[in-house]
Amino acid sequence: MQQTSLHQGSGRQACSQCQAAFENTEDDFTFYESLGVPPPRLCPECRFVRRLNERNARVLYKRNCDLTGREIISPYHRNHPFPVYAADVWWGDEWDELSYGRDFDFSRPFFEQFAELLSVVPHQATFVITGTLQNSDYTNCTGYCKNCYLIAEADHNEDCYYGNRLFFNTSMVDCSNCYESELCYETINCIKCFNVRFSEYCQTCSDSAFLKNCIGCKNCIGCINQRQKQYMIFNEQLAQSEFEKRLGEMKLDTQSGIVRMREQVDAFFLTQPQRVLQNEHNQNSTGNHLYDSKNSAECFDCKDLEDCKWCAKVFSVRSSRDYTSWGDTAELMYQCAACGDHSYGLKFCSTCTTNNANLEYCAHSTGSKDCFGCVGLRHKQHCIFNKQYSEEEYKELKARIIEHMRSATLCSSGATEGQAGEYGEYFPKELCPYAYNETIAMEYFPLTKEEALAKGYRWQEPIDEMPDVEKTVPADRLPETIAQVPDDILNWAVTCQETKRPYRIMKRELEFYRQQNLPIPRLHPDVRHDRRQSRRAGAHLFSRTCAKCGKEMQTSFAPDWPEIVYCEECYLKEVY
Ligand SMILES: [Zn+2]
Ligand SMILES: [Zn+2]
Repeated sequence: MQQTSLHQGSGRQACSQCQAAFENTEDDFTFYESLGVPPPRLCPECRFVRRLNERNARVLYKRNCDLTGREIISPYHRNHPFPVYAADVWWGDEWDELSYGRDFDFSRPFFEQFAELLSVVPHQATFVITGTLQNSDYTNCTGYCKNCYLIAEADHNEDCYYGNRLFFNTSMVDCSNCYESELCYETINCIKCFNVRFSEYCQTCSDSAFLKNCIGCKNCIGCINQRQKQYMIFNEQLAQSEFEKRLGEMKLDTQSGIVRMREQVDAFFLTQPQRVLQNEHNQNSTGNHLYDSKNSAECFDCKDLEDCKWCAKVFSVRSSRDYTSWGDTAELMYQCAACGDHSYGLKFCSTCTTNNANLEYCAHSTGSKDCFGCVGLRHKQHCIFNKQYSEEEYKELKARIIEHMRSATLCSSGATEGQAGEYGEYFPKELCPYAYNETIAMEYFPLTKEEALAKGYRWQEPIDEMPDVEKTVPADRLPETIAQVPDDILNWAVTCQETKRPYRIMKRELEFYRQQNLPIPRLHPDVRHDRRQSRRAGAHLFSRTCAKCGKEMQTSFAPDWPEIVYCEECYLKEVY
């Protein structure tokens, strides 16, 4: 195996992008050798951000299907070079991906040629399981949903609007990372909750608001770290009558009451111990928001992993590394983004879904195996640059291309990313179709426009089509309570208090606010989404000492943040 001088001897090297030093352990080298790939030149975080940038789940644009002319929505706006086909059309027989086939040119770099192929092959408009969505056209990365609107990375939901990572929920608005819950509003990372609002990290709670890290609580407001409690406010046990009296005084049906309570609750939470990490039922594993996993390191928002490292937003995955979104039975995946659903042995791929095996440097392919450097394949085998080969020809040509990609002659001085030693690296960020702020990279590593551009990422200003409405109302002129809101609001647009971007209220949404006695939200759905994400920990782990026992620990709370953070042992002693 060819290695640069940095890899020889010690496992310590400098990231070719951010220059940060990072360590390859014996275990890392063993993994790379087993896959026949050189160690990566980028540090784990640069690789992670690069993969996150391959997934735009929820910034959707109106455009037309380039084959049928039909109006559709897509994470790709009109100005991309490649054609975009409605999902059902993309899957159909009216086009042939092999008609884009071409010979590999050994006088040019691989990535340059791949970029050309990527810019002409049709892309699927949305990533949905066609045929499983009912009245849920405005969703992306979804399956098995009914009457849902603007939800993303979500399966098996009904009557859910404006949310992401929702699974098996009913009647939820503005929620993120929730499972098996019902009638919730502005909740984050809640499981099996009913009629809970403005809450995070709760399980089996009901009829409550402004909770954090509570389990089995009912009729509680502004509480943290409570178990099986009722009629509590700010962790204080009250009689039912006193609870009801104080609840009435809070006026949580008014906009000003909600804003005031949010501030009070956040100030109160700062006086109480915080859990070091939000992990459950793991063995020998590190990361955050990690569940039911074994022997996995530095994994975030994952469930059911075994022998994995540097994974995020994936579930049911074995022996994989550098794998981001979304798993669902996958094994031996390496440096892949937005790939999943029964995948095996994919390397350096983007957006390859459902029953793929042994693909390398492929994008937007499905049901295919043993292919290299292809785009938009459907049920193909032994293809290279969208050209069909025999098994023998495939093996021989693939080996020659890999050798070409590793070739030292391309590593001449002045070579830029994407040219020098291409093999073993993910697609350069110039090949990413998305702007940084369209993608899930913003959820873990938010950047300003200036920061993103300085790092070489694209930026996309929101494209808001001015709604065709009778009138536009500034959000701060909306009534304090829902009772004062007339049906006419359905014919208006509201301008966001913070960004001035216009948004509409849907009939089903208005019914939800009326039923729940909630005021109309003052912020654009994108701002609401960003605020929810900012209440969740990112993907950094910091060294910090337990505020109780002084033990050294890894936590998502930076050392200079004001929260009181307890190690897991001290935390459990405190809450039970
Ligand atoms: Zn780096
Ligand atoms: Zn402790």
